[in-house]
Amino acid sequence: MPLRFFNTYSRQLEDFEPRDATGRKIDIYTCGPTVYSRAHIGNFRAYIFEDLLQRHLELRGYKVRRVMNITDVDDKTIRGAREAGIPLTESTAQFKEAFFQDIETLRIKRADEFPAATDQRYIEKMIEMIATLISRGLAYQAEDKSVYFRINKFPNYGKLAHFDLTQLQSTGRVKHDEYDKEHIGDFALWKAWDEEDGDVGWESPWGRGRPGWHIECSAMATALLGDQIDIHCGGIDNIFPHHEAEIAQTEGVTGKKFVRYWLHCAHLLVDGQKMSKSLGNFYTLPNLLEKGYTGREIRYALMRVHYRAPLNFTWDGMNEARESLARIDDWLVRLRETAAGKIDKREIDMQPDQDFEEALDDDLNISAALGFLFEKIRETNRALDRNELDAASANAWLNWWERVNSVLVVEEAIAPLPPGIAKLAEARAQARLAKDWRKSDELRDELSARGWEARDTKDGQKVTRRAGG
Ligand code: AMP
Ligand code: ZN
Repeated sequence: MPLRFFNTYSRQLEDFEPRDATGRKIDIYTCGPTVYSRAHIGNFRAYIFEDLLQRHLELRGYKVRRVMNITDVDDKTIRGAREAGIPLTESTAQFKEAFFQDIETLRIKRADEFPAATDQRYIEKMIEMIATLISRGLAYQAEDKSVYFRINKFPNYGKLAHFDLTQLQSTGRVKHDEYDKEHIGDFALWKAWDEEDGDVGWESPWGRGRPGWHIECSAMATALLGDQIDIHCGGIDNIFPHHEAEIAQTEGVTGKKFVRYWLHCAHLLVDGQKMSKSLGNFYTLPNLLEKGYTGREIRYALMRVHYRAPLNFTWDGMNEARESLARIDDWLVRLRETAAGKIDKREIDMQPDQDFEEALDDDLNISAALGFLFEKIRETNRALDRNELDAASANAWLNWWERVNSVLVVEEAIAPLPPGIAKLAEARAQARLAKDWRKSDELRDELSARGWEARDTKDGQKVTRRAGG
């Protein structure tokens, strides 16, 4: 079965065909964090979905180039800095750093590029794009000195969100402080400087000001990936107006179709409502780490439901994630013990298959994929109970797991020792602390007799399976 994804643009499942002639290279653009506060785990649901997407595409042999922008200038970042009484760059720097720490904890693969909107070369690109839009009649400077996109001049406006624009039609000009615009739906490309902006601003042909949020993404995406890209992602709240605006601006400049596949993930909810800063119903990663959950447990909890289905955040859900990972850990210990043994058991015909990967081919159906994973765990555990899985089969399953884990990335960093071995290792570490060298040597022999090797390194004792043991 070919890979297929649900494209928000067509509202249909579509077979995936990259633009690249070799069919192997893919560009992905993902809207990144607005660094005005620490991201909450709702944001990370979106980033983990994107990580799953990239890793699965890579497992399927594609070469992925991914860009994730950092929004470090907009209304919220400016307000945040003003309220903290520090310069914008200082305020955003701390949240950028926190973001990079958090993605590492969650094992999210780093994008190839993390462009920041305030980088001079992107500001220049934004100004260039806005000038082109004005020259084509697609944008205008209003009395308030800000520049707006003229949505009536872009017939496809509303196609992504499947919006009926007549609902947005305004008769005549809207008299409102915020709206010096021709149409209520016209969005800002360039915002004229005002006092609240303080020292934040750039010179432009339209006077001092700053870019609107939407043009930032159009400029960074095309500057780094070109006029056309394969996949663009974000959470569903990004569809309108943000992504709709990105299409209008980019296609208004290039005249080419900007994005082939639009993928959006549903929200992380708390009691049926979107987890968000404004509702105050959010947790950050440090909040969950303080409660004793690990990065991989949080990763698993945020990943385990299909990206297009809303996911309710609950403590039960966190604990289920913990239990699921413990089952995987136990299973791996058993498989590794068996794989290291001799091939003297009765071999049964139970070899790994493609179910897991094929479920992900089908619009990243992680729920089905995990269903298959735990079904395999049950079956192989049963065979292990009956002594029916030999070393070669156990190895085949471990190789299968390597592929599965290249997408899930939930294995403990170091495979846990079997309980009996862990006990001996701990006793030996204690003996060494007490400088009881005789006991330490006895325990080393005991470990060795069971096929394990204890080595003393500058970082302490390391116990590994003995080669050929
Ligand atoms: P922001 O920093 O607000 O621009 O959001 C960054 C990303 O997180 C965007 O892709 C949003 O769509 C996404 N997002 C925000 N809240 C949630 C949530 N509760 N669940 C899933 N994704 C979210
Ligand atoms: Zn964006």
